[in-house]
Amino acid sequence: MKPPDFDYVAPTSIADAITALGSDSEAKVLAGGQSLIPLLAFRLASPALLVDLARVDGLDHVTDEGDRLVIGAMTRQRGAERDPRLADRCPLLVEALRQVGHPQIRSRGTIGGSVAHADPAGELPGVVLALGGRVHVTGPAGERTIEAEELFQGFLSTAIADDEILTAVELPASGPRTGWSVVEISRRPGDYALCGALCQVEIGDSGSVVGAHLALIGVGDRPMRATAVEAAMLGGASPTEAAALAPEGLSPGSDVHASSDYRLHLATVTSRRALTQALERAV
Ligand SMILES: Cc1cc2nc3c(=O)[nH]c(=O)nc-3n(C[C@H](O)[C@H](O)[C@H](O)COP(=O)(O)OP(=O)(O)OC[C@H]3O[C@@H](n4cnc5c(N)ncnc54)[C@H](O)[C@@H]3O)c2cc1C
Repeated sequence: MKPPDFDYVAPTSIADAITALGSDSEAKVLAGGQSLIPLLAFRLASPALLVDLARVDGLDHVTDEGDRLVIGAMTRQRGAERDPRLADRCPLLVEALRQVGHPQIRSRGTIGGSVAHADPAGELPGVVLALGGRVHVTGPAGERTIEAEELFQGFLSTAIADDEILTAVELPASGPRTGWSVVEISRRPGDYALCGALCQVEIGDSGSVVGAHLALIGVGDRPMRATAVEAAMLGGASPTEAAALAPEGLSPGSDVHASSDYRLHLATVTSRRALTQALERAV
């Protein structure tokens, strides 16, 4: 199908983008278009105005702030995947990016677009939640930050207001003796995961686990933090023992791809594999 009619503007500054977004209650931001354009084509969305961020200055960058990495919203997923600083300082993000669709999609899709879209099976929302990141947004009332725990509010729904623009994603940089892993089960390579586990662990001087971060995707209406698994790992449990707790608090739906029970089973399987690999890498 063809999209419904819409107006289109391509501002060059954040201020002009905010003004354009506020000019029509049916306006929507366009980033890489890899989720929004299919929604338009299927007529699942019909915004009156698209505010294209492609020409806005200052949204395409990776900034190393020591213990934090700040990634501009319009940074293309493929560019971030190939950035050596991110490979070194945030390997979980780079490994997750490699599992987003296909290279063609990642060449257009943006970091900010994926996080703002908040697909419950999306890898980048899972990374932001697992690492306890935050997003920077700007709107008519100015700038603010939203912590990952408050950001994802439901199916394709975030705490970003309709008249706000996500300008950057901020993630903690990984330190020494950190291991990471992304394990997904999907029907075909490049498909959204039926269930995925995104995991980072930190090992202390004594060899015990001093940091454990695990988010599960595809098992709810938003990415889910596996807090029981994390607590078990910090308490000295093995990956198998800890992963057995992964279904706690989850109630995934059944659909044509997988039943709820199968997704709960995958939550345990992907968590165990991810924790095991992350520990092996944390040397
Ligand atoms: C065939 C196919 C397979 C895919 N597979 C995967 C996959 O396996 N995993 C995965 O995670 N994703 C997948 N995607 C989606 C892809 O990652 C998209 O790039 C991403 O979801 C949206 O990013 P975008 O830049 O294209 O945003 P757009 O499509 O332009 O926008 C998406 C939504 O976010 C809003 N938005 C975008 N940017 C901002 C901003 N800066 N501030 C406020 N709101 C904003 C838009 O208004 C819109 O509602 C797939 C897409 C396709 C077409």
